[in-house]
Amino acid sequence: MIVASRTHTGLVRPNNQDTLLLADGLYGVADGMGGANGGEVASNGAVKVIGEMLLGRTPDLIGLEAGIQAANRRLYEQQAQDAQLSGMGTTVTVLWEGADEVYIGHVGDSRAYLLRAGALSQITQDHSVVAEMMRQGILTKEKAKRHPYRNVITRAVGTSSGIEVDVIRLDKQPGDIWLICSDGLYGMMEDTQIEEALKTLPLDEAADRLLSLALAGGGRDNVSLVLLAVAEVAQ
Ligand code: CA
Repeated sequence: MIVASRTHTGLVRPNNQDTLLLADGLYGVADGMGGANGGEVASNGAVKVIGEMLLGRTPDLIGLEAGIQAANRRLYEQQAQDAQLSGMGTTVTVLWEGADEVYIGHVGDSRAYLLRAGALSQITQDHSVVAEMMRQGILTKEKAKRHPYRNVITRAVGTSSGIEVDVIRLDKQPGDIWLICSDGLYGMMEDTQIEEALKTLPLDEAADRLLSLALAGGGRDNVSLVLLAVAEVAQ
């Protein structure tokens, strides 16, 4: 796959607690949280453990889930031993590329989107208070964007001894474009703007456009994105 990625502190936060995962066939975003430097430690640590567990292996759902569970255990143990890191955690959204399919592993409110045949779909479900209220029909999408709990996630890697990991397997089709991003990206714009950028621009320019839209939209959080394009088959 062809890859373009960006990460940016944004315009408000003092540091960048997001970490990108960019390795051979393994891509993703981790969005850390926690006081002191806990957020960076969590997102860096998760990416490191997942890389150690998965690189060089044949992609499958069981391995992917095991990699994210291992990251959870490692972070949970680490914060049990260091009071400064107490409460740290991170989202993880990872794409692992197989020969004919892709595997998505997901915890938290970072997202994977797929542009296929000119239409954008959100593939992951947000594990957040507002997303659950929307699924129950008690909150609209517009109100969710401004809700005081919009940043509160209901699942994270590292905050408890056991977690539930979403894993998804999808076929890989020529022309597919994947976007993995933190909430500092999608929270600053409409999905229609994401779709427009992915449909009309070459990959690297689309990455620039999405980052500049997030900053123009307020840049209130760290912004991270990985774009992945599945090559068209030569005729
Ligand atoms: Ca964030």
